[in-house]
Parts: sequence; C-alpha cells; structure tokens
Amino acid sequence: MREFADLHCDVLAKLLTGEAESFDGPGSDGLDVTYGKLTASGAVLQTFAVYLPKRVPQTFMSVVQAVDRFYRQVLTCPHVTFVRSQADLAACGPGRPGALLALEGAEGLEGSFAALRMLHRLGLRMLGLTWNDANWAADGVMEPRGGGLTRAGRELVRACNELGIIVDVSHLSERAFRETIEESARPVIASHSNARSVCDHPRNLRDDQIKAIIDAGGLIGLTFVPWFVSDRDDPGPEDLIPHIERVLELGGERVLALGSDYDGIDRHIRGLDGPDGTARLLDMLALRYGEELTENIARGNAFRFLSSQLPPA
Ligand SMILES: [Zn+2]
Repeated sequence: MREFADLHCDVLAKLLTGEAESFDGPGSDGLDVTYGKLTASGAVLQTFAVYLPKRVPQTFMSVVQAVDRFYRQVLTCPHVTFVRSQADLAACGPGRPGALLALEGAEGLEGSFAALRMLHRLGLRMLGLTWNDANWAADGVMEPRGGGLTRAGRELVRACNELGIIVDVSHLSERAFRETIEESARPVIASHSNARSVCDHPRNLRDDQIKAIIDAGGLIGLTFVPWFVSDRDDPGPEDLIPHIERVLELGGERVLALGSDYDGIDRHIRGLDGPDGTARLLDMLALRYGEELTENIARGNAFRFLSSQLPPA
C-alpha cells in the first residue's frame, strides 16, 4: 500500500450544510472521503478546508460551525492525528491519518485579525486568501477586474507568515498570485491546481506561476477536478500525466503533490472518486515513473514541505 497525502478536500462543507451527516459510518454515504476510506487506502494526511458554500452566511460564525464539525466529527475518529506541528506530522501513518485544518477564502474572517489568531489557536495551518470571487483581502480568479491584494490582504499574508499559517494561492487572480508571492516571506502552496498550458482553465497555473512556486520552494497539489484536467468529456487518470510532465519539465520534481478536491466536485475523473481511487492512480504512476518519484508526489514532497513550515511542537 502506497502512503499518500492530500492537500485539499471539502468534506467540512458537506458536513456543514448537512449533505453528509457524519465522517464515519452511517450518514457518511454522500462523502468521497470518509474515515473508513482514508484508513483503508494508505492515506497518511488529509487537509480539511473550511469552505463556505454560497448558501451559507459568509460569516465568522459559519467558520466556527465548520471548525466545530471538524472537532466533533473528524478529530474524534479513533486514530486521527490532528496535525498542527512537525511532531504531529511524525505521528501520522497508514491507518493513522493526519488531519490538517485549512481555510479556503478569507470571507469568513470578516476582516478580523483576532479571528485569524483564534483560528490559529484552534489549529488552522493553511489559508487560501480567496475562493473564486473578490473579498476584503484579494481578488479571486473569476473576478473580472483581475485585481490584486488589498492593503488588508497584504497584511493578512504577513500575519500568516508570522503565525505560521501556510498561504495557499490556488484560487487567486494572476495579479493577486504575483503580489502574494512578492509579499510572502515564506514559500506558498497551490493546494489544488493543474497546469494551464495543458488545460486552459483559469483555475490552473501558467508556466511562469508554476516556476515561481518552484523557485520559492513551494508545493503544487495536482487536482482531480475533471474540467481542470482535460477538455474531453470523460477524462481518465491518464489525463493527469501531461500535467505532471509539464511541471516536471519546468523543474518541479520536488514540488509536485496531490490536492484531490474530493467532495468539492459533483463529477469525477473516471475512477478517481475517493482515497482508493488515489491509491490506484499511484499504482499507475509507479509503473510510469518508478517508486521514488511516485513516493515524492504521493507523500514525500508534501511531508518535506510541511516539516519545514509547521512549528516543531
Ligand atoms: Zn477550491
């Protein structure tokens, strides 16, 4: 069984809206990622993003409710390790998956740095400044005006740097991406984005963006969102190969990781519909690239990066 880390899923959004009632056992039917599937598949780390769907008030109270779900429904599973430090990361393994808490979009902070610090105390270790739209911090990638970071957004990047919250650039406009890279004293990640030169979707990364992440020593999570992978009607796991090839051509052997976006999508790449699908993808990659590179994509690069960015204990 190959060990793997996944930098993005939206389980908490489904638990928040009631699309799924539990993370484990009865009531978890509507989930791509469940405790049972994680422990059965070789998953050693899963990032849980707090994403507030449009129909939920975009408030700090909604964030609190999602984090409460995370505490009550994910962290209570018997062998889940809450990953807040390097020491926590070292305790993760197959059957003992780590859970990393992320925020996708700063809307729910309502511009409050006190809210950010409270979330950090609650274990938040990763933050994407926006979802697709603009908010008080920055413009997301679908915002037509294509603005960058606001003054408060720059302050947010610096606050994350100081607190030790990893900045995620996946949904940012191109200008906000550049300004975040400039502003951030620490390497950033794109937790769930592919290569735009392969599939021309605005959520994917242009070659110069991929290079900027490589140069900064960041991380890129290959994502399984069908329409970020291929224009074809029914893409399969093999359609991820050109994305991997592109990042490798740009010198990204040490930045490639996985960011499935499971539970954030209503359609899947053929066979890639949960942690066991990820395990099968890795079998396919191992045949093509060998064990060493596959291990780096699956787990090694993500763990090396997180070890360098999380606090020691
Ligand atoms: Zn997303």
